[in-house]
Amino acid sequence: MAQEKFDVLVAGAGLGGLSAAALLAKDEGKRVLVVERESGTGGRIHHYKGDEITTVEDYLGPLRASRGRLGHSIPDIETIVDDKLLAGYAFELGMHDIVNGAHSRMAHVLEHLGVPVEIVPLKACGFWHDGVLHELKRGSFPWFDEQDHLEMKQILGEMLRMPIEDVREANRISLLDFVSPRTQNETVLEFFDILGAFTVGMNSARELSAGEFILATRMPMNAGLHFADGTLGQMGGESFMQMAYNLADVIREHGGDVRTGQTVQTVLVEDGVAKGLRVTDASGETRDLLADTVILNVPAVLAVERLIPHEALPAEFVEHVRGLKSGGAFVPIYGLSKSVIDLPGMLFTKVPVDDPALPDGVMLGYEAHSLFVEGKAPTGKEIIECWIGLSTEELGQLERDGKLPMLAETITDFMKASHPGFAEALEWALFPAIDGVTSVQPTPEQAWDGMLDPKCPGIEGLYFVGDSVKNYGQFMDGVAYTALLTTDAVTGKNYLEQVLPPYQREL
Ligand SMILES: Cc1cc2nc3c(=O)[nH]c(=O)nc-3n(C[C@H](O)[C@H](O)[C@H](O)COP(=O)(O)OP(=O)(O)OC[C@H]3O[C@@H](n4cnc5c(N)ncnc54)[C@H](O)[C@@H]3O)c2cc1C
Repeated sequence: MAQEKFDVLVAGAGLGGLSAAALLAKDEGKRVLVVERESGTGGRIHHYKGDEITTVEDYLGPLRASRGRLGHSIPDIETIVDDKLLAGYAFELGMHDIVNGAHSRMAHVLEHLGVPVEIVPLKACGFWHDGVLHELKRGSFPWFDEQDHLEMKQILGEMLRMPIEDVREANRISLLDFVSPRTQNETVLEFFDILGAFTVGMNSARELSAGEFILATRMPMNAGLHFADGTLGQMGGESFMQMAYNLADVIREHGGDVRTGQTVQTVLVEDGVAKGLRVTDASGETRDLLADTVILNVPAVLAVERLIPHEALPAEFVEHVRGLKSGGAFVPIYGLSKSVIDLPGMLFTKVPVDDPALPDGVMLGYEAHSLFVEGKAPTGKEIIECWIGLSTEELGQLERDGKLPMLAETITDFMKASHPGFAEALEWALFPAIDGVTSVQPTPEQAWDGMLDPKCPGIEGLYFVGDSVKNYGQFMDGVAYTALLTTDAVTGKNYLEQVLPPYQREL
């Protein structure tokens, strides 16, 4: 069998794998090879250009690769593709915004590597309360009375000032359990419920870790950002894919390579030491790639279930990883013949759902990207991308019960009732449902401590990177943190300190 030798092998060309590989190639002079199963890089940050979707598979293929499926569409997907309804639109696999905007940890990593990207900060934020859309501004919550404002500020102030030891304790309780002893004010509770759910990508304050919310909230506040002004960002250039392209360029410029169409079959382990990866390429040829350092960017459950020989791993570790719960999302995307939203930012609300499966309704965040990012929709038209964070179990159950179309209709009815002109302007809609949007959901049971250490127990030279690894802030921003944490574990150096300001590396 053919063999090749490298200093470092990385399995998976998601943002985590590419970032760690680029740091090791550029800063450490390592000969690095990244191998990726799919035909492109970027993992879960797939970007669609409507003009390039000429078959149904062009749309469904990347969705499936990210553990997604189409829950519903308007009209049916064959008609959408055959009638070229997506022409001129550009959109993500499902809504993407980068947390901490221009100050995101991903931006810091890219700047450190000398390949910055153009981040377009969101400049507005809307909040629905009692059927009215209010524009949120710095210091101004138009639907709050003085007492609401005071109580909200007191709680947020306490969160900002909490010593890190107390935040760690707060990791183990829900945001609702943190906030409710401090206020019984319904308006304030609703505010934290919606903001908390959106911030950590889950559905309610009842389910999410308070400590995770506190850390994720005080990062942008410490950077001087606000939801109405830069906490979230979109991306110019080739959208979020630009980050993957820039990282791959760094790897190649420094003697490494990124090879796509290469599926890792197994991690090669001898006497408790990682030796490399066994990889099959698109033609079916299998070869062994050798290295003393092997980094897995594949989500931990898949890596442990399929890629690492179990006899080399401690049994309790395998048990722990198998029990990890991932977060999913239902992410409607609407194409409209004219603009019906005039606020260039994220709009938040809670939508009641007339079904016992979702007794609390769903937290909905949505954004008309074409209002502030060029090239998202044909001139004069509008694209709206939506976010509903549900657990993978909830999403799976809704699918098995045939309820995804019901949820799609509920959200569409909300849009029609809330934005005059929406019904007449609607040209098409896609309703993807995706498992594993976050590999380890930040619940009180899992936040931080439940996530993996970068070093794999029981196997020397084997590491993890990506969103299964210890991080806070989650998503792309959290993944950048894990790339630094893993690079530190591999090198024994302190890239976290070199690259990030103190308030972005609190734990
Ligand atoms: C619908 C949706 C919406 C999201 N919205 C946001 C958002 O608004 N903001 C935000 O910051 N983040 C968002 N995210 C999350 C963000 O995309 C992820 O956190 C991030 O991309 C994860 O990066 P990663 O490197 O950990 O993993 P991945 O991107 O999953 O990378 C893992 C890579 O490993 C590859 N792989 C798997 N198995 C093998 C194998 N056997 N051999 C070789 N390669 C393999 C995969 O193909 C993949 O490319 C969203 C995700 C989704 C799906």
